[in-house]
Amino acid sequence: MATMVSLIGLVNRIQRACTVLGDHGGEGGSLWEALPSVAVVGGQSSGKSSVLESIVGRDFLPRGSGIVTRRPLVLQLHKTGDGQAEYGEFLHAPRKKLTDFAAIRKEIQDETDRITGKSKQISNIPIHLSVYSPHVVNLTLIDLPGLTKVAVEGQPDSIVEDIENMVRSYVEKPNCIILAISPANQDIATSDAIKIAREVDPSGERTFGVLTKLDLMDQGTNAQDVLEGRAYRLQHPWVGIVNRSQADINKNVDMIAARRKEQEYFATSPDYGHLAHKMGSEYLAKLLSKHLESVIRARIPSIIALINKTIAELEAELDRLGRPIGSDSGAQLYTILEMCRAFDRVFKEHLDGGRPGGDRIYGVFDNQLPAALKKLPFDRHLSLQNVRKVISEADGYQPHLIAPEQGYRRLIDSSLSYFKGPADASVDAVHFILKELVRKSIAETEELKRFPTLQSDIAAAANEALERFRDDSRKTVLRLVEMESSYLTVEFFRKLPQEPDKGSNSSAPTIDRYGENHLRRIGSNVSAYVGMVCDALKNSIPKAIVHGQVREARRSLLNFFYAQVGSREKKQLSAMLDEDPGLMEKREAIAKRLELYKSARDEIDSVAWK
Ligand code: GDP
Ligand code: MG
Repeated sequence: MATMVSLIGLVNRIQRACTVLGDHGGEGGSLWEALPSVAVVGGQSSGKSSVLESIVGRDFLPRGSGIVTRRPLVLQLHKTGDGQAEYGEFLHAPRKKLTDFAAIRKEIQDETDRITGKSKQISNIPIHLSVYSPHVVNLTLIDLPGLTKVAVEGQPDSIVEDIENMVRSYVEKPNCIILAISPANQDIATSDAIKIAREVDPSGERTFGVLTKLDLMDQGTNAQDVLEGRAYRLQHPWVGIVNRSQADINKNVDMIAARRKEQEYFATSPDYGHLAHKMGSEYLAKLLSKHLESVIRARIPSIIALINKTIAELEAELDRLGRPIGSDSGAQLYTILEMCRAFDRVFKEHLDGGRPGGDRIYGVFDNQLPAALKKLPFDRHLSLQNVRKVISEADGYQPHLIAPEQGYRRLIDSSLSYFKGPADASVDAVHFILKELVRKSIAETEELKRFPTLQSDIAAAANEALERFRDDSRKTVLRLVEMESSYLTVEFFRKLPQEPDKGSNSSAPTIDRYGENHLRRIGSNVSAYVGMVCDALKNSIPKAIVHGQVREARRSLLNFFYAQVGSREKKQLSAMLDEDPGLMEKREAIAKRLELYKSARDEIDSVAWK
């Protein structure tokens, strides 16, 4: 008996947890559906709600004529220790303990109306109510709208079929135990309950026949044929019930008195005296509880198999979504650094190859820079005209005597400063490529997808670092250009053919200082020198850029960020790990469900084999 109570109680707890998590229904079979429950079916006013109440032993269901039960009521009974207060709790109002059962009735009515309106419409969205009491047996019972034959005023014509479909959707599940309620004052052959039960459970192995209103039978008739299983045979014995009449209800006859009256009825009945020990609502509750126990026991292997399968699925889903992060700052810091490393890996793959993008940097050095250098306007700058202008300006009032030293310097200096443009542009071009790679890498880092805030934090930190690298790199390449003009290669000029020109008139001791040939030669000398520098820069600018930007990005892109994060407070860390709320909810729901399934497995393991 102890195991019986704990086994059903356990299933009840699991079912309750399932409902809290919304883990019922669904394709592929949820845990809820794998667990047995009891559905109460029958025609309107056959006494369904009354039977439920007498099983609970409390008065709490809305009742009256017409269609009162218009939404399924999933009623979970939890047996508590002796002396504990009785109370009910609705799933839609969790943590609100209702000790007044009249208030529970009112809430069922209100909650019904909330969905269906005050009309006589029905809805298949269940109301979940848990009742905690020392006087109940552990059971889950589902009260359903009564089957009808015709739509009454204010109801759509489809209601007859709608109700039948709703009832069928519950009772057709193989784990549903059917409590088929038929009133004794009607011919059993016309029973709606038996009709639908036979349809979904032809062998009668999960149908319990309950006969109500025995007290209302015509004088001189009795229900012995039904109760003794001769009229309609089921695998389980029929149970007769005498509920409170409407007059009793109106007079507020309490349930205890009603039960006593019921017992007396059977004990003293000339027709049913011999069956008295197998009649009445108390007996029915025990019978159901015992049956439920054996059903659960038989189902344990398949329930455990389902649980294991579901656990595996949920674990896989959690892995896909990313595991929840610990709430202490150590765990958070660890997660942030892990994410940064993941990003850094992707970024490096872009630079080093494996992922595309790094090759575009080479493109800058191989195409863009040489093309820009080629386009520099040296032809114009070293034109005869300009050479003359620069040389004569440099000479001032005193024309140069041998080589125009000042003129050369000015021409070379002004030519070299043209290199700043392409050098600068290469720095920027590489900068934009690196920035683009950061953007791509962030988008491609799977692990980061859950943390939009961290994503933008990393992007900001990386871009900031790239700007620093760019500034350094720019200084370096400009310095390279400046270096070229600060000291000219002496060698080059030594090797130049000496003036005056060997071919010209040697008898003219003074050459024309501003003559065309002379100027042209100066121009071409400068041009040759500039060409030499250009070749050198074509090689050294890429080196400086790789050194200052690419290599730095590769090895210390997030160093500054790491230092910052390391000194952050817990609050700031959690803010960085602020996840996409939808995802967070999803993970939380899965984690909770996982927990439920795991604890269900443990509990079943621990009670099932006692
Ligand atoms: P439901 O529509 O199937 O839920 O039926 P109810 O439980 O609301 O009962 C309908 C009416 O029948 C109520 O007025 C009850 O008091 C009355 N009733 C139900 N069972 C019995 C019974 O066994 N004896 C008597 N005299 N009246 C009953
Ligand atoms: Mg009812």
